[in-house]
Amino acid sequence: MGSKAEDKDGVLTDVSSSQPKKKRWGFLLFLILPLLAAAVWGLTRPELMSAFDFSSLGGEEDPLPSWIQRAVIPVDGVSRRGEKLEGLTGIVIHYVGNPGTTARQNRNWYADPESEVSSHFIIGLKGEVLLCVPLDEKSSASNHANATTLSVEVCHPDETGQFTKASEDRLVELLAYLCRRYDLPVSGIIRHYDVTGKNCPKYYVEHEEAYLAMKKRVRAALEEEAS
Ligand SMILES: [Zn+2]
Repeated sequence: MGSKAEDKDGVLTDVSSSQPKKKRWGFLLFLILPLLAAAVWGLTRPELMSAFDFSSLGGEEDPLPSWIQRAVIPVDGVSRRGEKLEGLTGIVIHYVGNPGTTARQNRNWYADPESEVSSHFIIGLKGEVLLCVPLDEKSSASNHANATTLSVEVCHPDETGQFTKASEDRLVELLAYLCRRYDLPVSGIIRHYDVTGKNCPKYYVEHEEAYLAMKKRVRAALEEEAS
């Protein structure tokens, strides 16, 4: 008698606990299936995916403008870690902080074993542009923003950090190119200062009006191309 009662109890317990379990699974599937369907649908529609296509950046299929010179530094695990970007939300502007140095000198510093820094682009005093880190990789320029931003360092003739006209004209051209090419908003253009509070790029931090005027020129360049 005792064992039967136990069996009966056991069966009753099983029945009473299995019903809600089935309902829970059904409820979960009800939630998950539409999500899966949406994900598959989304992945098959390129316009819904991130506008940032890692595979094509700067590659043979997606050549850079002729005014950008390739001068990629070797992977050393520090200046260039060889890690892929995790996304692309914007572009961070820097000044080199070393008055009178050329784009090439700064690029060679990135490649130096002593260096722990790099940027995707360096713009020289005459407006020349070097690509130092592949565009689908992280640079070592902008602290925690490295994972999701491109970086541009700009050379400057003196301690004020003010860019030459040739450098700034090229900066506007490069930023407009990158915004258009990778579908970034002009609001995604920021200063190193906006990431960490560092006085970089010095002139644009100390002369906010010059920074805003430069961004206005980028916006105008994009609108001109669009019209
Ligand atoms: Zn900086």
